[in-house]
Amino acid sequence: MDIKSRIIHAGTDRDPFTGASGVPLYLASTFDLRRATSGGGHDYTRSGNPTREALELAAADLEGGAAGLAFASGMAAISSVLLLFSPGDHLIVSADVYGGSFRVLTRLFSRWGLNASFVDSTSPEEVAGAVTPATRGIFIETPSNPLLRITDLAFIAALARERNLLSIADNTFATPYLQRPLAFGFDIVVHSATKFLNGHSDVLAGLAVVRKEDLAERLRFIQNAFGAVLGVQDSWLLLRGMKTLAVRMDACQAGAAEIASRLRGLGSVRRVFYPGLADHPGKAVHDRQASGPGAVVSFELDSVDRCLRLLEHAGLPLVSVSLGGVETILSHPATMSHASMPPDVRAERGISDALVRLSVGLESPEDIWADLEAAIRS
Ligand SMILES: *Cc1c(COP(=O)(O)O)cnc(C)c1O
Repeated sequence: MDIKSRIIHAGTDRDPFTGASGVPLYLASTFDLRRATSGGGHDYTRSGNPTREALELAAADLEGGAAGLAFASGMAAISSVLLLFSPGDHLIVSADVYGGSFRVLTRLFSRWGLNASFVDSTSPEEVAGAVTPATRGIFIETPSNPLLRITDLAFIAALARERNLLSIADNTFATPYLQRPLAFGFDIVVHSATKFLNGHSDVLAGLAVVRKEDLAERLRFIQNAFGAVLGVQDSWLLLRGMKTLAVRMDACQAGAAEIASRLRGLGSVRRVFYPGLADHPGKAVHDRQASGPGAVVSFELDSVDRCLRLLEHAGLPLVSVSLGGVETILSHPATMSHASMPPDVRAERGISDALVRLSVGLESPEDIWADLEAAIRS
């Protein structure tokens, strides 16, 4: 079935016991072991819960993996995946990776002896050149946050296979509706499901989907042992939010494309970063691996002062961290998502203090534009 149909029917689309249109909330921490076999062999909710499992099946189906695993947040999913590695291992990571991924690697996993090199993953030479005898994995994000840089999924997966490395892609920005890294040979996809997958800015959640069963077994062990699992109610809300992923993405993406091209026409906007623009350096690669440019546009203003005025005067969007909601969200990476990155590292990675990131929501694009333009001109 087409991804649009799978989004509706993936996983358990009706309750096996009653035929109800959705899976119920199994608000139970424990299960009577003498009866558990008829319900699928559950014992304790950290190890498995039927509502969470419906979500995990849906995630596996949409990404095309052997198994899905749900975690308490995107960072819980990413950190649990990083626990697959051992002290002394080395990772190659996209330079403009999500700020929280940078933080957990440089300030937490580094203390446990997991070393990371941050490289420009859009450059095949740089990635290949960063492999050392200790390298065990490559962790990339495409489109990346906040500069919407594009990494070639097929190249990274092939390099990883050749060097026997685990390949991990953060697919938060594109979602499986637009891009499925496992199909290019990636081993693991991670998500902040807090963003487009849930789509309503009311749940914090993370997902990991694994291509092969043996690796899924290892990650399931970590999920249960480490215990950063997604709660039952949030699993249910996320399943509900995901049902409208395709229509939300289509509409938000159409708005984003319109706004990106109009931003280009404003003299006070220095640069616009959006993989749908004809002159985006990663457009050819992105078009090959994804079915659309997505709904996030970043742009750099001609001064930090104008940027701060925009953040003050914008009335329609939420001025906030996060993205992927039904409402438009305007963020300032330097003081928000990437505040945990030292200023010199930010500058080196091209994240200017005059850069803003716009996650286009479901409002009328005309209204979003009118508000944005007035605030930029203020
Ligand atoms: C938000 C985000 C994360 C972290 O997810 P949380 O749900 O906030 O823990 C990871 N990667 C990307 C690309 C994100 O945007």
